[in-house]
Amino acid sequence: MEPSTSEPAITSGTQFLRKHMLKLAPYTPIEPFEVLSARYGRKPEDIIKLDANENPYGPPPEVRQALGSLSFPHIYPDPETRALRRALAEMNNVPIENLLVGCGADELIDLLMRCVLEPGDLIVDCPPTFTMYCFDADVNDARVVTVPRLPGFRIDVEGVRRAVQEHKPKAVFLTSPNNPDGSMISEADLLSILALPVLVVLDEAYIEFSSEQSRIAWVNKYPNLVVLRTFSKSAALAGLRVGYGAFPRDMIEYLWRAKQPYNVSVAAEVAACAALTNMPYLNQVRDALVSERDRLFARLQEVPFLEPYPSHANFILAKVTGGRDAKAVKDALAQQHGIMVRHYAKKELSGYIRVSVGRPEHTDKLIDALKQL
Ligand SMILES: *Cc1c(COP(=O)(O)O)cnc(C)c1O
Repeated sequence: MEPSTSEPAITSGTQFLRKHMLKLAPYTPIEPFEVLSARYGRKPEDIIKLDANENPYGPPPEVRQALGSLSFPHIYPDPETRALRRALAEMNNVPIENLLVGCGADELIDLLMRCVLEPGDLIVDCPPTFTMYCFDADVNDARVVTVPRLPGFRIDVEGVRRAVQEHKPKAVFLTSPNNPDGSMISEADLLSILALPVLVVLDEAYIEFSSEQSRIAWVNKYPNLVVLRTFSKSAALAGLRVGYGAFPRDMIEYLWRAKQPYNVSVAAEVAACAALTNMPYLNQVRDALVSERDRLFARLQEVPFLEPYPSHANFILAKVTGGRDAKAVKDALAQQHGIMVRHYAKKELSGYIRVSVGRPEHTDKLIDALKQL
């Protein structure tokens, strides 16, 4: 039978996609450990991975024990992650009703945007910063108003105020300590931004490494504040995917309705709860990374072609100077020494590398390698 000529022919799958999807940046894969290992011809244990702010010490032994003896892997997880939220509420002095757990803080950024943003709505982004805010804004057909940070990576509070007045964005994303430079937002700056008529999302993925307290309990007081935290960095559970957020009480109700019911796996919740049973271990690892950060900073200062920035997180951003190309430095470290550091394609950061804090021997090998370049 001839197809009816009145029906338009289906010529490709892309014609079914939402229009804004066609404008998304192409997918750039993040290479798993095994692939890196094969590419650089080294055993996984001979690769020094300082490119994703992972915690080289791993979680406390209680986590492996708990994962090895899961009682109910065949049963769906608790959609309300009650055991973990109970522990987090107590630890953080936040009512359990304000807390929601996600498949990483990344999931919560996307969930929040799906609940808050109409197509065409705006968010304020303060680059250089964590790129997931822009990524999720694009996925959610939102627009981004950019208020670049001032020299020294401080937030341009006046710029944010102007952007809020002019563009009426729904949300401002702030990161403290900021990724990639490790600077903190001051209390005065945060308070100024909280006074604006906008939802303020404070991402505290690295707060444990700073000398300041988390502002998570502030959600009790500010109806326009969301605070995001994660088990990926200081609790060393990046592979298990557990993040959490504190949200205004009246808003969280709707996030629950939109959330995938089983977003946190049984393994993820059990692992996070087990990690919290050994705070002395978590604190000891954090202290080790903080003191290693300070040593790494001093050693990076000795490298003639690097200018490191002081950091409150478990990574250090360094400007590559002396006519050297930052991408070439990154490639040489990977190829010749099996040391992975982060480099950025984006123009404003193309002259920088970011190095995660590892174990003392990782610092020593990195510095030796840098001196040989
Ligand atoms: C790593 C990171 C996260 C993501 O954490 P997950 O819980 O692993 O999704 C969130 N925000 C910032 C700034 C990060 O660097």
